[in-house]
Amino acid sequence: MGKNAQRRRSVGQAAAHQAARSLAQPYVQAIERARASGMLALAPGTVAVLEVRHDDDCPKLRGGLCRCAPDLALRPLPAKEVDA
Ligand SMILES: [Zn+2]
Repeated sequence: MGKNAQRRRSVGQAAAHQAARSLAQPYVQAIERARASGMLALAPGTVAVLEVRHDDDCPKLRGGLCRCAPDLALRPLPAKEVDA
């Protein structure tokens, strides 16, 4: 295996590891629970913003991994904002 192939593999493994770590964060799990419970259901064609409100001391706010129980707020956008 060439050096470039090894580097690509290493970068790919690092990305997979980071993706796995990201999916394990509490806020991702909170979003998945909300989705599974139907809390995030939207009418077809609706555009919405999902706010994830981390605790003030959550490391996610300083570039680390989430360690809090975030509040979720789904805010559908008015049609006039979507069309603009
Ligand atoms: Zn957090």
